[in-house]
Amino acid sequence: MLYYHPIYSALALPKKHRFPISKYHTLYQRLNTCKFAQHIEQPEQKITRDALLLCHDSNYVDAFLAGTLSDKAIKRMGFPWSEQLVERTLISLGGSLAAAEFALQHGVGANLSGGYHHAHREFGSGFCIFNDWAVVAATLVAQQRAEKVLIFDCDVHQGDGTATLVSDRDDIITCSIHCESNFPRVKPHSDLDFALPVGTEDKQYLETVQEAITLATRIHQPDIILYNAGADIYRGDELGHFNISLKGVYNRDSIIIEHALTHHIPLAIALGGGYQRDIDHLIDVHQQTFLALLDNPAIMI
Ligand SMILES: [Zn+2]
Repeated sequence: MLYYHPIYSALALPKKHRFPISKYHTLYQRLNTCKFAQHIEQPEQKITRDALLLCHDSNYVDAFLAGTLSDKAIKRMGFPWSEQLVERTLISLGGSLAAAEFALQHGVGANLSGGYHHAHREFGSGFCIFNDWAVVAATLVAQQRAEKVLIFDCDVHQGDGTATLVSDRDDIITCSIHCESNFPRVKPHSDLDFALPVGTEDKQYLETVQEAITLATRIHQPDIILYNAGADIYRGDELGHFNISLKGVYNRDSIIIEHALTHHIPLAIALGGGYQRDIDHLIDVHQQTFLALLDNPAIMI
């Protein structure tokens, strides 16, 4: 099952804002015309405050919910505060949780949002407010639906928020494959980090992905993989510095999907980053994840 809500793209942003907020709706429209149409649902529940507090500081959570964050904190977050932003954030994390719950039951689930890996315990950063995969992982462990969770992050930017949020836990494992010279400037240690140089091309990248997913699952034997399928590894991305082809993005996601299915590990997918002013081009990249899903004969969505 794929989870999507119109509010993902409904956020009102200043005209020249950097974030391609309409991409979620455009992707939804694209997927709605193919075999996925009957497999897209709205998340039924928002994430709860209690779930957020498993990973985030209560002062930060409450200030965000009430609209009392400082101007500096709002600037770092990257979005102007509004009631709509609160609603969108809570529903979006609800979508990531729903995708993980579906994956635990049926093998694979996806949220057409999420991947908010720059969100830290006490502040939001880089268009990320609350860290969906960290919160979902902590929720699944707290509810004893998983003993060990792997957060596997293939966004071109390092998963700094995720790394710090769960650094003291051995039941939530973090693995990040990213560009060594890119945001965030400070890159705290994940359990496994694979830092690749500017200009990395398909061959080296895909070998690294295969090595990383094999290593991470062999060592840690996770009960579920929470996957950040960032589209900003693509060579045409405006905030990424890799040289990965469209086919390379497809192959990356095929590797992850195939590995999860072969080893019978539930897989939940979040959309992750992707920044191009031409939204149709951007969706061509995000869509690779779903083409890879469709092309896998073993998939039950
Ligand atoms: Zn990114």
